[in-house]
Amino acid sequence: MSPDLRLHRDMFAPLPTSPSRQTIPYLDHNATTPCDPAVVEAMAPYWSQQFANPSQRGHRPGLVAAMAVDQARQTVADALGVAPSQVIFTSGATEANNLAIKGLCEQRLGHGRHLVTVATEHAAVLEPCRYLERLGFAVTVLPVRPDGRLALEALTATLQPDTVLVSVMAANNETGVLQDVEAIAALCRERQVAYHCDAAQACGHLPMDLTGWGVDLLSLSGHKFYGPKGVGALVVRPGLVLAPQLHGGGQEGGHRSGTLSPPLIVGLAKALTLALQDQKERGQRLQALRDRLWHGFNGLQFPPGVELLRNGCPPHSLPHTLSVAVRGVDGARLHGQLRRRVALSSGSSCSSTSGKPSHVLRAMGRSAAEAAASLRFGLGRGTTAADIDQALAAVQEALELAAYG
Ligand SMILES: *Cc1c(COP(=O)(O)O)cnc(C)c1O
Repeated sequence: MSPDLRLHRDMFAPLPTSPSRQTIPYLDHNATTPCDPAVVEAMAPYWSQQFANPSQRGHRPGLVAAMAVDQARQTVADALGVAPSQVIFTSGATEANNLAIKGLCEQRLGHGRHLVTVATEHAAVLEPCRYLERLGFAVTVLPVRPDGRLALEALTATLQPDTVLVSVMAANNETGVLQDVEAIAALCRERQVAYHCDAAQACGHLPMDLTGWGVDLLSLSGHKFYGPKGVGALVVRPGLVLAPQLHGGGQEGGHRSGTLSPPLIVGLAKALTLALQDQKERGQRLQALRDRLWHGFNGLQFPPGVELLRNGCPPHSLPHTLSVAVRGVDGARLHGQLRRRVALSSGSSCSSTSGKPSHVLRAMGRSAAEAAASLRFGLGRGTTAADIDQALAAVQEALELAAYG
């Protein structure tokens, strides 16, 4: 049996210590959130009853579907402070990032071939940039400071006359670190460079006023704010032209061909409305729980030689995210102990399948061993103080079993 398979079976083994508990605390909300029941309910009529193709405005069922999409587009636009015509629905943030980056660079081919991004970006930004690099673009991947923040001077210094695009995320998926979106937008506007912001982790979790932010292109994803998986959007500044990356029937103003999904789009709009409604209160509550987790961590008994480090920049962070490195323990053993007791991430869902230490934590100066022994806690709407205390108890036990020697 391959080690992978053994690991997989292990994950479904009965819980050793608390047989009465059916579920383990879910503290991986940066990877995905549960779809809100009210969202599921809002989507329900559009699967089998009002199922028509919204592009078929010529008959009544098609018009009903089209009106649902129009309404959802208006809701999303209002929530973000933009016009409905600026919203392009996509299959998620990965597609939105690809459309923004490849679509903009392809469109501006004659203007320049330099783009700028940051080492801690999501793979859905870094990989489109690397793809363009193979096609002959010059890509600058800026480093970050040890706290995960981009130094604005570094960005200023790298902009050149032929720079066409800057892509810097709003909030990091692995650490929760926030970048200074407004300052980056102001700099890009001054230098007449398009600015794309991957806001998949920020949208629904921070106040969103895109006119105030001043970004040119912004990506978001439904399943990161209690909406359905498989839907997202790219918001485009008026007047900015993108080369389409999906060619076909010309939906979404020709930017993104493919039959629109009314249930997913209605669900996205409903989820965004709900997320912005409780955003402030939820943020405060989860920040208090996050602080309880961090203080609890500091009160644990650390085996000799084991040390706790906080990844990121607490004053500039998502309220519901905590990333810590446990220096001096074996990362694989630590996660192996924890996975039956609490659902959390080793830093990135992508890095955990590839087995490579997180590129985000490495870019922040963590060693490969520290990155592997890092834990990302993503709290969410359903998280309780009991979940936090259960997670802490699990970590305490795991620490003893995972310490070297
Ligand atoms: C989740 C995530 C993505 C990918 O979004 P999908 O909708 O799952 O494709 C991109 N960027 C960031 C920062 C994310 O957190």
